Amino acid sequence: MSIVSRIKQLKSDLPEHVCLVAVSKFHPETAILEAYNSGHRVFGENRVQELLPKYEHLPKDIQWHFVGHLQTNKVKYIAPFIDTVHSVDSLMLLNEIDKEAGKCKRKIKILLQIHIAVEEHKFGFSFDEIEATLEKKLLNSFPNIIVAGLMGMATFTDDSEKVRNEFRKLNIFFQELKTGYFSGNDYFRELSMGMSNDYPVALDEGSTMVRIGSLIFGSRE
Ligand SMILES: *Cc1c(COP(=O)(O)O)cnc(C)c1O
Repeated sequence: MSIVSRIKQLKSDLPEHVCLVAVSKFHPETAILEAYNSGHRVFGENRVQELLPKYEHLPKDIQWHFVGHLQTNKVKYIAPFIDTVHSVDSLMLLNEIDKEAGKCKRKIKILLQIHIAVEEHKFGFSFDEIEATLEKKLLNSFPNIIVAGLMGMATFTDDSEKVRNEFRKLNIFFQELKTGYFSGNDYFRELSMGMSNDYPVALDEGSTMVRIGSLIFGSRE
């Protein structure tokens, strides 16, 4: 199947309110253009040095999402154009994105990454850390940031019940914040969860944004 037919297939499977982020990391600009020419506009990358030339060469109406771990010293390179950063895992990073967005006179949407997997190496805040941060009103001091929701990555496993449980807990927390701390805030509405291997479970559990790479573009080297 071609890139275009895989995107079409996916889009017809996704509920209407769910956003498809086509994760194009490791794949060439020609592959992105193929998807673009069929009408897709939302793409995700996880390395700044790979995103920059792609941004430069490709059509400017692409909505770029950053989905990987972002180092603070690289924020300044993507601040002029990035639409959403999915992977904000520290207040230091939040502070840097706010500062650089301000310099560009932009507002940048961010998702707070929550650690839901059992694996040690996955980045993110704990539920407790987010609650403490909100309690201390620490997010209020970033005028150039829009907190658009939460993001999480489940444990990489074939055990779909484990994955389901992790996504479910994240959705419960998301709904609590949406109706609690962020009630009346229309920007706080995205729950980014689900990749090629686990997006059907993520959709069941309330995802509003799926980040899908290999299922669209094929496997990465
Ligand atoms: C690579 C990546 C994806 C896409 O992964 P696939 O398994 O290829 O769909 C999604 N989210 C993040 C954070 C990634 O780094």
